[in-house]
Amino acid sequence: MDPKQTTSLCNSCPKLCRFSCPVSDADRDEATTPWGKMSTMKLVDEGKLTWNPETASLAYKCLQCRASETVCELGNPVPETLEQYRIKAFRTGIAPAPVYENVKIFQNHNNPYPIDLFDKLKTNFPEEIISNLPHSPSLTKRGLGGDSKITYFPGCTEIRYFPETIGKTLKLLRGLKIKISLYQEPILCCGYPLYAAGDLESFRELAEINIPALKRYREVWSSCAECLYTMETLYREMGYKISTQFFHVSEKLDLRRVAGGRAPARAQRVSTGGRNPQTGPASVAYHDPCFLGRYRGVYEAPRKIIESVTGQPPLEFFRNRENSYCCGAGGLLPITSPETSRKITENRLEEFRATGATTLVTACPGCVHQFKKVDPKLDVVSLIDFIAI
Ligand code: SF4
Repeated sequence: MDPKQTTSLCNSCPKLCRFSCPVSDADRDEATTPWGKMSTMKLVDEGKLTWNPETASLAYKCLQCRASETVCELGNPVPETLEQYRIKAFRTGIAPAPVYENVKIFQNHNNPYPIDLFDKLKTNFPEEIISNLPHSPSLTKRGLGGDSKITYFPGCTEIRYFPETIGKTLKLLRGLKIKISLYQEPILCCGYPLYAAGDLESFRELAEINIPALKRYREVWSSCAECLYTMETLYREMGYKISTQFFHVSEKLDLRRVAGGRAPARAQRVSTGGRNPQTGPASVAYHDPCFLGRYRGVYEAPRKIIESVTGQPPLEFFRNRENSYCCGAGGLLPITSPETSRKITENRLEEFRATGATTLVTACPGCVHQFKKVDPKLDVVSLIDFIAI
């Protein structure tokens, strides 16, 4: 991908994807349409605009959600192109201030949160952790997953905000006779926040630590498709060889076994409408996470899982599947443009309310966190929480 070519393509286009960008939709600003951002980068390259904090900030006005790329007849890679300008901005010291603050936190804690994630994992799952740091290189007898060659990678957001979901995931999968361990390496973040910041050097450093650990497993499963994209695609794009296979849990759940036997209590309540009798039958709408949908192409598996426990397909947002609208949490937007990010989430929640559903189910811890942050009263749950209650 040559940024000069991709920015030229957009610059000569009559903004055909204009409607698809959640950022310009929220900002009501031509400058933040895919056309506006790409044209600014082209003008900077041509020396017609100055490369300064203001122009550089436009590279960060992107959720990296691929909505424009999906509707673009040419499939022009806007997020990947803007990522190149983020790298340039970071290196030249003119990226937005919160980006550097976030990277600093990352460098101190090996994740984007100011906490020790391994400690949190150890506190929540003492029975899973066999060795203390430095971890044992041997996989035998590690945690309840034993010598499994399949591991569950929770990712930083799930450990930080939803440790109980990790427990439910392991219980559910092991109940389905899947031999799976809990990933328990010293570093518990894939590094995507560093990549999105444009700090390629730190991202590469982290990848080089993560890859030997990941290579110990035949398969890595996760509920976070952003982690999967990072480890499966970005690491390989940087030239690292890794034969480990990566799967989202929704791709691996055996629907017959989830549906069989005793239906989980929550699913029973939803399917009978008994959960909220005052407002009629409770119902579910499914939100497609960008990294699971547009990046990974997984649209039907989560819907079938919901249907297998409720007996009916989930209700659909007006914009769904490949046309889905980001939850607002992508591309570091919550830290670089919190107001825009919040407005995008509100826009998506307006679409949710229009479905008439009472429960919002999604398949990404980042989306659940973002929706809860903007509307704490919202009944929003992850796919695993929905089927495992
Ligand atoms: S991404 Fe495609 S549709 Fe959108 S402005 Fe660029 S060339 Fe046009």
